[in-house]
Amino acid sequence: MYVFQGIPASPGIAVGKTFIVHLDELDVAETLVDEKDVEAEVARFRDALKVTKSEFEVMRERLAGPSETVSRELLDAYILLLDDIVLVKQAEQHIRDRYYSAEYAVKSTLEWALEIFDDMEDPYFRERAVDLKDVGSRIIQNLLGTVHVSYDEMKDDSVVVAHELPPSETASIPRSRVAGFVTEVGSRTSHTAIMARSIEVPAVVGASGVTGRIRSGDVVALDGFTGRVVVNPDAETLAEFEERRRAHEKELERKTALAELPAKTIDGYRIELSANIEVPEELDALTRYGADGIGLYRTEFLFMNRDDVPSEDEQFEVYREVAEAALPHSTIIRTIDIGGDKFLTQLNISAELNPYLGLRAIRFCLERPEVFLTQLRAILRASAYGKIKVMFPMISDLSELVAGKEWVARAMEELKSEGKPFNPKIEVGIMIEVPSAAVTADVLARHCDFFSIGTNDLIQYTIAVERGNEKIAYLYQPFHPAVIRLIYAASDAAHKNGIWIGVCGEIVTLSAAVVLLLGLSFDEFSASPIAIPDIKETIRRIRYSDARVIAEEAINKATTEELVEYMETEMARIGLEKEIGWMGNEVH
Ligand code: PEP
Ligand code: MG
Repeated sequence: MYVFQGIPASPGIAVGKTFIVHLDELDVAETLVDEKDVEAEVARFRDALKVTKSEFEVMRERLAGPSETVSRELLDAYILLLDDIVLVKQAEQHIRDRYYSAEYAVKSTLEWALEIFDDMEDPYFRERAVDLKDVGSRIIQNLLGTVHVSYDEMKDDSVVVAHELPPSETASIPRSRVAGFVTEVGSRTSHTAIMARSIEVPAVVGASGVTGRIRSGDVVALDGFTGRVVVNPDAETLAEFEERRRAHEKELERKTALAELPAKTIDGYRIELSANIEVPEELDALTRYGADGIGLYRTEFLFMNRDDVPSEDEQFEVYREVAEAALPHSTIIRTIDIGGDKFLTQLNISAELNPYLGLRAIRFCLERPEVFLTQLRAILRASAYGKIKVMFPMISDLSELVAGKEWVARAMEELKSEGKPFNPKIEVGIMIEVPSAAVTADVLARHCDFFSIGTNDLIQYTIAVERGNEKIAYLYQPFHPAVIRLIYAASDAAHKNGIWIGVCGEIVTLSAAVVLLLGLSFDEFSASPIAIPDIKETIRRIRYSDARVIAEEAINKATTEELVEYMETEMARIGLEKEIGWMGNEVH
């Protein structure tokens, strides 16, 4: 029995057999393309080579120190392999002559080359065979747009264990068969953790070293509340986990009974409590947990795990389904937020040294207006059927908001001339998740209809702490005074300009934050559906008048420690025990 301590990322208790995901194992089926598509397939292959090459170049840049020479040499060798004329020609020939898909052409070329290398005695060539496999896997990953793993062998109630699970991978795991997730990297606000919560699967991330101690088929028990992971637990531990699982189920049942009740404080302050969703499969959870609509629909998930870009019609159908399901409440559709930790290779975005500070979200959309315009047209068409608002992510400057709105106006003009219905008064809002936006919120408020604060990013950009990095998770502090002051600046600007303001970051899963933010008179909180009952319970147990007094003092605290201590004291004073909220009142 081995015990690991990770970061609790999604609530719940799970016990099951391990299913280990190695992201370098690729499963490519023999797929053929039509004769007329052959040249496009060759172009796709060449694009993938380019993307792979720039990824290797970025990796090589990162390895700056003198001790890294060996790895740098390895990456040089990889880059040379990508330029190998024989291999490239062979793959292209397989596409042209045999009509292989680009992925399958790479795989077959790889197998052909590996056979030749295998027959060589020289250990140097044997090593090159390993390199070749690595390079080939990378090209295939880039062609697939995701690291595709076969889950055919995965049994029911499996616990998926991986070093890392990109959000797209998490989204592709068959949820009916997964009991839990354990990863070695990541944090609570990484998109993988967010995805685990949205599909309601218990998860522990940042459990470093776990893959070295675990074999496929081992039994693993995980506690999504505390971050404890036990490999091959003894009978006593198993019984303890089982007891916790039953207690959690009972508690969840009790809390879901709150679904019918409004999110209203004792003294009558009614706040909208909405759901963040990633995929339409989550729509059931809206009624189950009693959400007041959708406060954030992360549309980029519709673009994941596929080779193509969803058409306007496909997007329109999905947005319409989502918005209709949320009625009579509204749905905030966020335009795609890719970049950062979410990649879509079918859009041919080249690798960047600092993806969180790069061509992400609105920046990408303004750079690629054909993608943006298609999405805006689909959102607008769906707005004829539900109460849709549109929101731009990662606004850092007024010019981006103005440019985004110009594209909305252009989409409206087009639809009008085509006679397609839409809501001409659709509200356009922005996420406040970059410090520059919070600081200039008074300016931005005059140009949009609403704000929604994205604390997941606001925290990382304010304190310069990458949100998904478990090594610095201790620095990721929602109660850092700088974060609270920026939130206050945004809410103050919204109120002074008479616009609606919500929060859709994970901060609202912390009960102390619920109190503080209520005190700043927010109109809405939006969170993963599973977090809604806890937030509602907190809201229903406090007085708005108390929250206001608490918030007024909280925004003036000098340090995180001071603020946390103050909030703990106040929470106890108003009768909220620490355990409220599945994350408790911990600092992060
Ligand atoms: C946020 O940044 O807080 C947010 C809600 O958006 P995302 O988590 O998708 O970046
Ligand atoms: Mg964000």
